[in-house]
Amino acid sequence: MTNIPLFRVMREDYWVKPFFKQYKVALAAALFLGFLTFFSAGALMFISGFLISKSASLPTNILLVYIPIVLTRTFGITRPVFRYLERLTSHNWVLKMTSQLRLKLYQTLEQDAIFIKRDFRLGDVIGLLAEDINHLQNLYLRTIFPTVIAWLLYVFIVVAIGFFSWWFALFMLLYLAILVFLFPLVSVLVNGARQQKEKSLKNSLYTELTDNVLGISDWIFSQRGQEYVALHEHSQDQLMAVQAKMKTFQNKRALVFEVAYGLLILTTFIWASGRFTGNHGGEANWVAAFVLSLLPIIDAFAGLSTASQETNSYADSIERLNALPSLRAETQADKEPQAPYDFQIEDLCFRYPNEEKQVLDQLDLTIPQGQKLAILGRSGSGKSTLATLLRGDLAPSAGRISLGGIPVTSIGEAISSYIGVIQQAPYLFRTSLLNNIRLGNDKASLEQVWQVLERVGLKEMVEKLPQGLDTMVDEAGLRFSGGERHRIALARILLKDTPVVILDEPTVGLDPITEKQVLTTFMEELKGKTVIWITHHLKGIEYADRVIFLENGKLEMAGSPAFLAETSPRFRHLKAVDDGEA
Ligand code: ATP
Ligand code: MG
Repeated sequence: MTNIPLFRVMREDYWVKPFFKQYKVALAAALFLGFLTFFSAGALMFISGFLISKSASLPTNILLVYIPIVLTRTFGITRPVFRYLERLTSHNWVLKMTSQLRLKLYQTLEQDAIFIKRDFRLGDVIGLLAEDINHLQNLYLRTIFPTVIAWLLYVFIVVAIGFFSWWFALFMLLYLAILVFLFPLVSVLVNGARQQKEKSLKNSLYTELTDNVLGISDWIFSQRGQEYVALHEHSQDQLMAVQAKMKTFQNKRALVFEVAYGLLILTTFIWASGRFTGNHGGEANWVAAFVLSLLPIIDAFAGLSTASQETNSYADSIERLNALPSLRAETQADKEPQAPYDFQIEDLCFRYPNEEKQVLDQLDLTIPQGQKLAILGRSGSGKSTLATLLRGDLAPSAGRISLGGIPVTSIGEAISSYIGVIQQAPYLFRTSLLNNIRLGNDKASLEQVWQVLERVGLKEMVEKLPQGLDTMVDEAGLRFSGGERHRIALARILLKDTPVVILDEPTVGLDPITEKQVLTTFMEELKGKTVIWITHHLKGIEYADRVIFLENGKLEMAGSPAFLAETSPRFRHLKAVDDGEA
């Protein structure tokens, strides 16, 4: 049994198991009610069978049929009632479980954003959130509960028949075992691989689609859109072929199952006829009772095979969930940095998990509050990585970074009150311009918003817009030019009024004149704040108080621009290149 995914996975699962304990009463109630539902259904038919044949034999006393009539009514009512209650408790249990699972998953993802970024693509994560938890939900409702209920019924039927005939009970024990255990087992084994394939095809369709939709313009610009469509259709055909095969198997299996169940009913009929009509014809009423009671029970057994197949995809989901980093036991109590907000970097080393390359190698650096520090470096030298470390979004592999005396990683969420970031391509959301700016501080008054707009040099432009601040920004802010987007991003930061601002290549993609204007605005408006300005060229370098080069994970050539211009031929050379003189 060890290579049946469900059993293997149930042992290793640390996502769902805790919930068994937490809600064990509800769980037991759901299962018992499920059993009672089928019990009532069977009992209803049993009594009805008895009643029909008893009535047909013209009973001498009305009481002989009166009690069965009352019982028929009772079971007729209890069956839907139990069913309803069973649905209620089991769905309640499952929904409680999955909502907590979603929360746990979300917390895991959020806590380890960098891990996710490295190991999963966006499509994967969406798949994870959308599919895997749904799978768990369905697994319990469609597989585990019905299976356990069917097992309970199985035991009950065998024991009940045992009161009348031990050998027929033994026969039932074996014959029903085929239906209850063998059919599902064969299904898992035969369709298991197909199901696995279906799931992985589906997942890759998800990922591919996300990826390609994000990059759709590149397909179109390269005039290869048709090719992409063909590619996508091919994957889809593969998926459909697998699904068709499974469907055929399921149809055949359903047919065989029904024939087998029909034979069971026939056998019961023959047994009951022999058992109850032999010596005293008076017991013949029980024949119909036994035969009929088996009819509704088929519902409990027929779905088992289909249900058991789900375990394959469940195993897959649990495996993916298990592969996630476990939740940090306790999040540290957030501490508040104290002014002055100096950055203290000591012996900082960093390498991405599972990567060879040491991106940062024993950096030591102090950035006093109010300094304008330019960090220069080639593409890939680790500038953005350093910025991420400074914000505490990544943890150093070794060494320490503290802001105002507190390690940045333990400042927690509050870090955004201390450090503002403007990235290479500031993102604008599809809402009003006002909302986009207020993102920095949702309590800012209109007056304050206009003030910062003036400071970043956008006041006139916004005033000219027919709808002013209520202008809708289309997705990604394409309506605004690069320079305007950067200024809007600056407006956000100014509203937030953080003591430290990190600019990660804030002027990439702007023409030289706009670049200079934007930089001037940035530096003037951020006066008095610590500015960590990441850049790959020397344009506007004179704004910096200090320039540092980041190369091969080390810091080199530190000093003021004027000092470097005097002492470093390399700096002079780079400056000349940037000024277009070399
Ligand atoms: P650019 O000027 O192009 O923005 P950068 O100096 O900001 O470059 P980083 O983005 O910090 O460079 O990257 C530094 C190195 O770390 C690169 O070699 C990059 O390939 C690697 N790297 C960046 N992000 C990750 C990641 N999430 N996982 C693994 N390696 C990464
Ligand atoms: Mg970068």
